[in-house]
Amino acid sequence: MQFPTKVIHQGQEPDKETGAIIPPVYLTSTYAQEAPGVFKGYDYTRAGNPNFTNLERTLAVLEGGEHATVFSSGLGATTALITSVLKQGDFVVGMNDLYGGTFWLFDAVFKKYGVRLELADLNDADARAVAFAQKPKMVVFETPTNPLLRIVDIAAVAKDAHAQGAMVVVDNTFATPYLLNPLALGADAVLHSTTKYIGGHSDVIGGAVVTNNTVLKEKLDFARMAVGLNPSPFDCWLVSRGVKTLAVRMEQHMKNAAAIVDALAASPKVKKLYYPGLATHAYHDVAAEQMRGFGGMVSVEFDLSLEAMKKMISGYKVFSLAESLGGVESLVDHPASMTHTSIPKAEREKMGLPDGLVHYSVGIEGTEDLVEDIVEGLAGC
Ligand SMILES: *Cc1c(COP(=O)(O)O)cnc(C)c1O
Repeated sequence: MQFPTKVIHQGQEPDKETGAIIPPVYLTSTYAQEAPGVFKGYDYTRAGNPNFTNLERTLAVLEGGEHATVFSSGLGATTALITSVLKQGDFVVGMNDLYGGTFWLFDAVFKKYGVRLELADLNDADARAVAFAQKPKMVVFETPTNPLLRIVDIAAVAKDAHAQGAMVVVDNTFATPYLLNPLALGADAVLHSTTKYIGGHSDVIGGAVVTNNTVLKEKLDFARMAVGLNPSPFDCWLVSRGVKTLAVRMEQHMKNAAAIVDALAASPKVKKLYYPGLATHAYHDVAAEQMRGFGGMVSVEFDLSLEAMKKMISGYKVFSLAESLGGVESLVDHPASMTHTSIPKAEREKMGLPDGLVHYSVGIEGTEDLVEDIVEGLAGC
């Protein structure tokens, strides 16, 4: 079955009792039992709900995995992974520009329980060897990363991590299963913030983990119930509704991103352009090898004063100035004053995040409208 068919039909079968083409929202906290302890698979919604099961089917199939567990958010999913897999004294290696929320979860929450995270450039074989020699229990990274859109070679990292007995977790939020399937390249678990492209409409917060490991699946289900990381049935229903258009949305996101990259590349006011589809991108070859397309995120360092740049990105007609990404609407983010404020300026610059860096989540609006916004913005400053 092809991807555009799977997103619509897997885990989305018509209701058996009524024939309703769309599975209903099971807004229920509990379930009637026939006799004490005799029930139809569900006993309490913190532990399970048919809307969770439907979405789990869909996500497992899309990632080519056996199992999925859905959670209240991407960070809820990460919390479940940490509490399921790690214990006091364990060591974790993360890619050096790990998603800020994931970093803070380790640093501000789990550090005091004795779980230590260290960041390393996983693309640098030497840095990787030094980090992995400390015997991490888990290696976690995104590809592409945020906001510099670095690509991590999943197969290479997984091989080295497995040689040290570490579990490999890939956050596939940016690429989505339409463009990348980390399990096939050696990842042990795939993490998603379904808030982003999978939901796709900026109207819900959700997360998921997909794995082929049955023991891990049981631990994740347990963590959801025991820690209270469950999503709401309605939120799952919204994600199930949103994911159906993932294939067509991703095609338009990529078409628009490519057009914007062309418009930006033509401007002398652009200092550096980051898009994995560009032949000049540092990891273009890895991206071309492991992905089926280059996604809808574009980052730019402008050769403008900070003031002129801020005025330009505040004045767009179609792009909204907002955090988050992956929705149908185009968004623009200034990491130094929005998503990455918690990192001191000197640290940010060391990480390659100058104040002039701007991050676009290119939506699925009309291509010409978006290009016009970018071109007019540049002309006005
Ligand atoms: C947003 C995001 C998360 C966290 O997800 P929430 O749903 O906001 O909790 C994790 N990883 C990446 C790459 C993200 O973009």
